Amino acid sequence: MKKQGIVAGNWKMHKSPVEGANFITTFINLMLKIENVEVIFCPPFSALFNIDGVLKDSPYKLGAQNCHWEKEGAFTGEISVKMLADCGVDYVILGHSERRHVFNEPDDWINKKVKAVLAGGLKPILCIGETLDQRSNKETKNILFHQLKNGLMDVSDFADVIIAYEPVWAIGTGETANKEQVSEAHGWVRDILGEFYSQEIAQRTPLLYGGSVKPVNAEELFEIQDVDGFLIGGASLKIEPFKEIILTVKNKLKD
Ligand code: PEP
Repeated sequence: MKKQGIVAGNWKMHKSPVEGANFITTFINLMLKIENVEVIFCPPFSALFNIDGVLKDSPYKLGAQNCHWEKEGAFTGEISVKMLADCGVDYVILGHSERRHVFNEPDDWINKKVKAVLAGGLKPILCIGETLDQRSNKETKNILFHQLKNGLMDVSDFADVIIAYEPVWAIGTGETANKEQVSEAHGWVRDILGEFYSQEIAQRTPLLYGGSVKPVNAEELFEIQDVDGFLIGGASLKIEPFKEIILTVKNKLKD
């Protein structure tokens, strides 16, 4: 299956609406020819509406970092899929390690969110990944198996699903998984998807890697056969590194 090229920037809780819009304006003005790379900016909720206005008519896409599965109601502090869609959002990051480990989101919530996002016509970026202890105990494959099985329970249409493998120990730590670790984990993800669903789904579902991706390691990581792009935190907050990573992906896709 042809390698895909997706680069998503997760800004986490950074940038005000004005800072975000200025950042994107600067980015658009670089006039990058991103060609077949799908570039997604995922700012905080508060900046989505502003940024959508700036992104319109650009090749860039808008993503959110979370959502609730209900359409509306008494859910203080939450946001629905429809509210995100009304802000121009196309993608929603779900099950990010900070949601799982800082906010204790269980797999069944993540599953409800995945289904709500798909039902609302948006695309989930489902994050999975093991902690350092789990890796040390050789539980990585098992963890990925359960996170995929539970997160994707009762999902039948995979056309819009993206999976991001993000080892928890590599997120925001400066430590990147090495080529062997990423290659092995992405291979497992394809095997697991093949086992649950079909070889066709396993091969065509985009698999992103996330965890301290930077311009210096992007090329080596993107060379890995089963890596279709990146989910990037820290390096997406500055123009230069984010631009360099996108161009690396673009150039590698041409090779
Ligand atoms: C992330 O937030 O998903 C992430 C991968 O962060 P960082 O690139 O900073 O490790």
